[in-house]
Amino acid sequence: VISEAADELSVDAYVIGGYVRDHILERGEPKDIDIVAVGSGIELAKKVSEKLPNKPKVQVFKNFGTAMLRADDHEIEFVGARKESYRKDSRKPIVEDGTLEDDQNRRDFTINALALKLNKDGFGDLLDPFNGYEDLNKKVIRTPLDPDITYSDDPLRMYRAIRFATQLNFIIEAESLKAIKRNRDRIKIISKERIVDELNKILLSEKPSKGFALLYKTGLLKKILPELTALQGIDEVEGQKHKDNFWHTLEVVDNISENTDDLWLRWAALLHDIGKAPTKKFHKKIGWTFHGHEFVGAKMVYKLFKRLRLPLNEKMKFVQKMVLLSSRPIAIADENVTDSAVRRLVFDAGDNIEDLMTLCEADITTKNPKRFKKYHN
Ligand code: ATP
Repeated sequence: VISEAADELSVDAYVIGGYVRDHILERGEPKDIDIVAVGSGIELAKKVSEKLPNKPKVQVFKNFGTAMLRADDHEIEFVGARKESYRKDSRKPIVEDGTLEDDQNRRDFTINALALKLNKDGFGDLLDPFNGYEDLNKKVIRTPLDPDITYSDDPLRMYRAIRFATQLNFIIEAESLKAIKRNRDRIKIISKERIVDELNKILLSEKPSKGFALLYKTGLLKKILPELTALQGIDEVEGQKHKDNFWHTLEVVDNISENTDDLWLRWAALLHDIGKAPTKKFHKKIGWTFHGHEFVGAKMVYKLFKRLRLPLNEKMKFVQKMVLLSSRPIAIADENVTDSAVRRLVFDAGDNIEDLMTLCEADITTKNPKRFKKYHN
């Protein structure tokens, strides 16, 4: 239908971006379809709607020059090919009409710049000016233009690079990785909400530790979750060491992700030890202790969620409760637990008890943060 509509309007139309990428990778039928028209995207959307049997409503976003309609469970977005330029203080570009190449130039990664022609003449031709197809096969994340420019123009792309590397199990090309490190201070111009969207997608991946290890290595994690990076490192006093709680945490997140797709339980796993950095003490007789870290951690969750503009609702309370409870998995598993505070917590857990046990299980089965760290290097 889109093909016919484009031919009737005599505009060239292409399907571009994530749909093409996921189609080639055989990641299942993507829900979102992005169409670029070399001409008016809005006119093309209207024409497509006219041709569809149920004439779906076309939502027009005049300011953005885009239009969207829903058909067969798909959200189809139409945009006119555009050229973008950036100012230093904003990730919102100045936009003007452009060619298909201009439109491919503005894309974040080579694997997201692939376009398939939809017009009858040349239907199915792959337009791939940056060898994105090869990068898909080589499993590489690479920017179409100079990575320093790409990341500086829109710093959200640094998080997107790490998110795609995690979701697709790709590597980030070395030059790109260096550019992310160089440009990390640019993240000050991105809204917290957008960063959190990317963090959520990383957390919902099969192996979230991959993303968090990359965020850590590039210095992006410290910018957004300093409470977490503060857990990194091993101190030694009088020959006694504690475990590296950062790498331990990542291992717990992976373990729990094998058992649950619940985003908030995964957040709880990520934050379950954050009270350990500020409560760490060395006692001559006992060794390293983290007394009260569960209570301190629960308070930190509140502040952290507020800062990240995450919902301060039931979900936040759930994460807080899990952090508070997750600290004593072995004590909880032990019926003879004597610590009254812990007993009360278990008692109060109510409906959360199963989630709690999943979280505890993930914690207990964590064996070797040191080896885990090595694996990520
Ligand atoms: P997913 O649906 O998994 O998030 P996607 O690639 O469809 O993947 P979208 O955020 O929907 O991601 O973006 C659609 C397309 O728009 C991308 O494939 C890419 O070509 C382009 N794009 C999105 N965000 C950016 C950005 N910040 N900079 C440059 N291009 C972008």
